[in-house]
Amino acid sequence: MKRRMFLSAAFGAAAGGSHLRAQSGKARIAITFDLEMSRHFPTWETTHWDYEKGHLNDHARRYSLEAARLVKGRGGVLHFFLVGRVLEQENVDWLKEIIAMGHPIGNHTYDHVDVLATQPKDVQFRFQRAPWLMRGRPPAEVIADNIRMTAEAMRERLGIGPNGFRTPGGFAEGLAGRADVQRMLLDQGYAWCSGKYPRHSTHRPDAEYLAAALEQAQPFRYAETELLEIPMSPVSDIHAFRSARWPLARFLEATRYGVEWAIRNRAVYDFLAHPSCLGVVDPKFAALQLICSLVERHADRAEICGLDAIARAL
Ligand SMILES: [Zn+2]
Repeated sequence: MKRRMFLSAAFGAAAGGSHLRAQSGKARIAITFDLEMSRHFPTWETTHWDYEKGHLNDHARRYSLEAARLVKGRGGVLHFFLVGRVLEQENVDWLKEIIAMGHPIGNHTYDHVDVLATQPKDVQFRFQRAPWLMRGRPPAEVIADNIRMTAEAMRERLGIGPNGFRTPGGFAEGLAGRADVQRMLLDQGYAWCSGKYPRHSTHRPDAEYLAAALEQAQPFRYAETELLEIPMSPVSDIHAFRSARWPLARFLEATRYGVEWAIRNRAVYDFLAHPSCLGVVDPKFAALQLICSLVERHADRAEICGLDAIARAL
């Protein structure tokens, strides 16, 4: 109880529970890539990915593999979250190589569905255009099936089960208030999920707004079910480059602030990027090099690890 009170005082109350902090007192920095295509990338006119999230192009696959090699070479791991439809592609050798390097791969649903959708039209663009794919089932059933199918595809094509779950799109309050979705994930064997992306402004990458948002991105357990949430830390590549249309330098500045904030506070930083987006804007891996360098410089106080390791340490 004392611990919880301390944490609440340190980080402010989270939606649905108190923030948790790792036992060892080290800052835990996760580098995560969501494996999907992103609208407006590589060119602004490109929107057909909404219907083909899993059709990763050559560039995104190569960027993922090179990023995995880079982070591994610097002693860390890169946590991937995979849209199941990627596994329909002809060649998945690059994923097998990533797995052989020891990087974890989690579930990001089969079609990038909105797990909070309650209306058929809100499930995903593909189902909007082709509503018969719903087979007349309620959204909750289609969503649960979309998650289960990804786990099955991973087992069949990659020979491994999913390491965790990340919701497509981040939600300002995560899954708070949706005990049904939390329970569905627990029922499918997920002990933690990454579904919260705190609301924040991108007008000024200044200490005040970022620190507040980073505090809101600390792990906590949902009050309804005790499901562990490991939020995504701001600022994501999509938020920076698509929504705010930042130049790379500004993104790097915000990333540096976030990692240094986490190291200072011995907190969690969950870097979120997409090879389909970051790979276009940052082809030389400046963001990943920056994170690795910052953690190396503070090796006594910080480490790079997967979200599963963060979950185990809480
Ligand atoms: Zn996504």
